[in-house]
Amino acid sequence: MFSADIITLFPDLFPGPLGASVLGRGMGDGLWTLRATNLRDFATDRHRTVDDTPSGGGAGMVLKPDILAKAIDTIAPESDPRPRILMSPRGKPLTQALAHELATGPGAVIVCGRFEGIDQRIIDSRNLQEISIGDYVLAGGEVAAMVLLEAIVRLIPGVLGALDSRDEESFENGLLEYPHYTRPQTFEGMDIPAVLTSGDHGKIAKWRHEQSLALTRSRRPDLLDKG
Ligand code: SAH
Repeated sequence: MFSADIITLFPDLFPGPLGASVLGRGMGDGLWTLRATNLRDFATDRHRTVDDTPSGGGAGMVLKPDILAKAIDTIAPESDPRPRILMSPRGKPLTQALAHELATGPGAVIVCGRFEGIDQRIIDSRNLQEISIGDYVLAGGEVAAMVLLEAIVRLIPGVLGALDSRDEESFENGLLEYPHYTRPQTFEGMDIPAVLTSGDHGKIAKWRHEQSLALTRSRRPDLLDKG
């Protein structure tokens, strides 16, 4: 079973959206587990300090390596086979392919940064794999961890109802998805494209593929270059 552990200063944010709808149901059905642990529980001084000023100067605070080490080693001792991940704007970009790779594994131990980030020595010593959700800077890793887990967990068999509804989705085949329509037949004077109500499944598949290609070519030509 996929089991996720989050190390965060804000455990109350979880499960948040991960507890809703199909992901929440999947958790209830025992298809995956989630545990959020407060980093502050591993602080040792009276003030439960977790951060300190950056060596070399500069603004902000840095999460301390000794406290993070205690948290990581308690939650995921060396024998734990799960990848140790740090949410980080410097990381490897999150893609559908990476979500698939992680979804077939035993789970993930995810560290959420705050402030300026975390001490480099804990990244090195605990072999943290840095993952980014995009080229922008958030205030903390929590929302990024939710994005990562949401992308992973919906791929776990049984979490989404219709298995094959996934295969045609954006990025699954290197293309953006075709447009969707549903009733009413006429909405504000616009009809559903006739091919979709023709009942000709061959024609429908061809039309959808052409739409996917055209959308990808105009919005994300980089995806076509990759394939
Ligand atoms: N000083 C850092 C940014 C710190 S933001 C830098 O310039 O790289 C604080 C925390 O938010 C980070 O430690 C990370 O855990 C999280 N975070 C911010 N942007 C993110 C992104 N694009 N993807 C994943 N995590 C992010």
